[in-house]
Amino acid sequence: MRLEGKVALITGAAHGMGAEEARLFAREGAKVAIADIREDDARKVEAEIAEAGGEAMVLMLNVAQEDQWVSSVAEVVARFGKLDILVNNAGISGSGETDITSTDSWDRLMDINAKSVFLGMKHSIPEMEKAGGGAIVNISSISGFVGQETIHPGYNASKGAVRLVTKAAAVQHAKSGIRVNSVHPGMLPPMLTSFQRGDPNREAMNAMVPMGREGKPIEVANAVLFLASDEASYITGTELLVDGGFTAK
Ligand code: NAD
Repeated sequence: MRLEGKVALITGAAHGMGAEEARLFAREGAKVAIADIREDDARKVEAEIAEAGGEAMVLMLNVAQEDQWVSSVAEVVARFGKLDILVNNAGISGSGETDITSTDSWDRLMDINAKSVFLGMKHSIPEMEKAGGGAIVNISSISGFVGQETIHPGYNASKGAVRLVTKAAAVQHAKSGIRVNSVHPGMLPPMLTSFQRGDPNREAMNAMVPMGREGKPIEVANAVLFLASDEASYITGTELLVDGGFTAK
């Protein structure tokens, strides 16, 4: 198993790609902390992992709140003894905004998508240092590479911030044995806060993808697994696009 003996905290793991990553990490031998604000869905993922023979716990964590990070990291260490892997996945979409100049939306996007990543790393890295090293995977987006016409620019700004804070942390913590990388999904099934499947805009977006289709959550989860595992032992500060060729054009 590729994560045997590891302890992983995954944010936004109650739904979507984060849930897929939680299930995959558990199958690969990790003990998984499912961190989210949606308790019912988080409990379902916890139960799925337990039924499959894995080990998981649920953390009620709003990733934009620093005090909640402090208590969540402490809870993981109290339950599982250490922390080896952090996946900063929780996020909200900039699609479906009625006003793409809203200042409130800018603040919310930057808090939940970008400040959260800084906070997560700030409070997890000391535990990884105690464990002798670790791996952090920050989920950005193709929106951290290119602008888009219809989404709130705060989404692009937040995902661009995730891309660069990843490189800063990679450089600053390399000598402690902590690797920090970013993953950049392209078009995937709609986020909770975004377009619904069947929306003509979504079909048009898929048509812009060289592979002609949206990605599957497992296709992103596999990339996250690789970077979180020891197979990526000489990889830090890199950005891995999982986008069907969208940004290659
Ligand atoms: P999703 O909406 O399916 O799930 C996101 C999860 O994050 C939910 O369980 C939600 O409750 C949780 N969450 C939201 N705000 C939170 C907060 N403040 N604190 C804790 N948890 C919170 O999203 P998804 O599509 O799986 O996206 C996951 C990540 O991938 C996000 O960072 C997103 O920006 C990024 N991404 C998504 C797409 C896409 O097309 N779906 C594309 C590129 C990047």
